Amino acid sequence: MSGLPVKQVEERLGQVKCAICKSNRFGIDSRTAQDGGEWKGTCLGCYYTFPVHTDMEFYLRTQPDIPYHLREIGCPHCETYGVDLDFRIVMSVRESIYFVTCKACHHQFPEQSSLESFE
Ligand SMILES: [Zn+2]
Ligand SMILES: [Zn+2]
Repeated sequence: MSGLPVKQVEERLGQVKCAICKSNRFGIDSRTAQDGGEWKGTCLGCYYTFPVHTDMEFYLRTQPDIPYHLREIGCPHCETYGVDLDFRIVMSVRESIYFVTCKACHHQFPEQSSLESFE
């Protein structure tokens, strides 16, 4: 289990906007949070749903390029490079977002991922 608290994930989702209605209020279906690393996020504005992936250990193991990418993400707060990946969401077909924590100052922020467009 990832051990990520549902409440914390919901709060951090508020840092991004819904792909459909641009609202920034989201909820996690807590039933989906009980089994496995894939949760279901719902926009409270338009009820659009999207996957929230919380099993980052598995993700990093199967995507060997990601750790290199994480080292190149700069923190907007202290401008140091290098972050930890906490969870990621797929907001739409073309928009995948990483939720990361700065290794230096522990500032938490979302980072748009462009990696998947290379495939
Ligand atoms: Zn919405
Ligand atoms: Zn920082």
